[in-house]
Amino acid sequence: MDRQNFKGENWSARKVDQVYIVSVKNRSSIVDALTDFIKDQNIQAGEVTGIGAVDEATLRFFKPSDKNYVDRTFHEQMEMTNISGNISEIEGKPTLHLHITLGREDYTALAGHLLDAKICGAGEFIFYPLNTRVVKIKDEEVGINFYDFGK
Ligand code: FE
Repeated sequence: MDRQNFKGENWSARKVDQVYIVSVKNRSSIVDALTDFIKDQNIQAGEVTGIGAVDEATLRFFKPSDKNYVDRTFHEQMEMTNISGNISEIEGKPTLHLHITLGREDYTALAGHLLDAKICGAGEFIFYPLNTRVVKIKDEEVGINFYDFGK
């Protein structure tokens, strides 16, 4: 078994064979920390899952009918019961596409496309890199980034 530890400003990680265990520092932005991590480790494609807790989260809802994005920020302590997402290249930059499910104090859940959230407690992630580069291109007609496997 091959293992190695890495550290960034707001994350720390252990690589075990090809898989990473990543901890995002308390009070840090998930998207900032994980984007810095994938750049640092040159991860161009793959999957990410995570759990933890946050006290601020901004979700985005896309309305295909008018290509409109509606963003909303929630300020409260919430369990991050799941993050799932993937990594691809958009406009030359390694980019995370993350969806999140958040558990509120009354045990109901919020869910959606994650713009960003701030860790308040733990932030525990597993990254499964794939040995390829995948590009997403914005489809102006639809208003969404789609995979382009011809790139
Ligand atoms: Fe999304």
